[in-house]
Amino acid sequence: MTETTTYTLIDGKKVASDIKEEIAQKVAERKQAGKKIPHLAIILVGDDGASQTYVDNKVKACKSVGFHYTMMRFADTISEEKLLKHIDHVNNDDDVDGFIVQLPLPPHISVERVTEKIRSDKDVDGFTNHNFGSIISKKPLLMPATPFGVMELLRRYNIETEGKHAVVVGASRITGAPLSMMLTELGHATVTICHKYTKDLATFTRAADILLVAVGKPGLITAEMVKEGAVVVDIGTTRVEGPQYPKGWAIKGDVDFKAVAPKTSYITPVPGGVGPMTIASLLFNTLRATELQNP
Ligand code: NAP
Repeated sequence: MTETTTYTLIDGKKVASDIKEEIAQKVAERKQAGKKIPHLAIILVGDDGASQTYVDNKVKACKSVGFHYTMMRFADTISEEKLLKHIDHVNNDDDVDGFIVQLPLPPHISVERVTEKIRSDKDVDGFTNHNFGSIISKKPLLMPATPFGVMELLRRYNIETEGKHAVVVGASRITGAPLSMMLTELGHATVTICHKYTKDLATFTRAADILLVAVGKPGLITAEMVKEGAVVVDIGTTRVEGPQYPKGWAIKGDVDFKAVAPKTSYITPVPGGVGPMTIASLLFNTLRATELQNP
C-alpha cells in the first residue's frame, strides 16, 4: 500500500474569519434596516487567568462584527443562589439576545443548575438540555458551539459525511456527545463513540473514515491508529509546559500531528483548527438568537 504524502490542512482561522465577515455583513444589513443589533452578555465568575483570556477573545470578536456586548463580573465568593437570580434577571432583559456563563465555575456552584437556568433561546453556547435535545429534532435551535464549529469546517471543506464511518473519541456533554448526535442526525454518518471505557481504542480509530478526537490527552492518537486517507479533526486543547517551547508552553492537540498528517486526506492543526471555530459559532448563535427574538 502506498502512503498518502499530501494532505489538506483544514484552516480553521480562515474559515472562522470568513464566518465573522458574513456575520458583520448581516449586522450591517440589520443596522441599515433599523433592526436590533445583536447583544451578547458574558458572565464571568472569579479571576481564573485562562477564563479571562477566553472572555477577552469573545469581547474582541463581538467588537469585530459590530455586536453590542456586556461583561458581567462576579467574585468567586458569589453564592449559587445570587448567581441564579442574576441569570434570571438576564433571561428577562429584552435588550440581551444571548448570554454565556464562562466555565469553569467555583466548586460550590453547580454547573448543571446554572446551565439549566439559562433560557434556551438565549443559550448561545448551546449547553442547555433543551438545545442538546433539539439536535435530534433535525431542527436544532442553538447548537453547541464547538461541535457546530466542527460540522461547519467539514461542510465548508466539502467533506462528505453521509454514509461515512465517523469515529468520535471522547463523549463529554459539551463536545463529544453532541458532536456524535450532529454527525448522525445532520451529517447522516454512521457513528461510533469511544470513551474512557473503550477497550482497544485503535481497533475503532483505524476503522474511521472521519476521526474526531475530543479528549484532552496530547499524543493519544498515533499514526498506527489512523487509516490511510482518513479525515482527522483534533478538538483537544491542552497547555503543555516545557523549556523547548519559546514561550515556555505550547497548546497541543490529542493527535500526534507530525506523524499522523501524512496518512490523512484532511487534518486540522492545533492551534488554528477547531479552536477559532468555537468563537465563530458563538457569534453565529448570537445572531441567530437575535433573529429568532427580534426578526
Ligand atoms: P472532558 O469533559 O474532560 O471530556 C473528555 C472525554 O474524553 C470524556 O468523555 C472522557 O471520558 C473521555 N476520555 C478520557 N480518557 C480517554 C481515553 N483514554 N480514550 C478515550 N476517551 C477518553 O473534556 P471536553 O470538555 O470534552 O474537552 C475535550 C478536549 O477538547 C479538551 O482538550 C478541551 O480543552 C478541548 N476543547 C476544545 C475546544 C475548542 O474550542 N478548541 C472546545 C471544547 C473542548 P470520561 O468522561 O469517562 O472521563
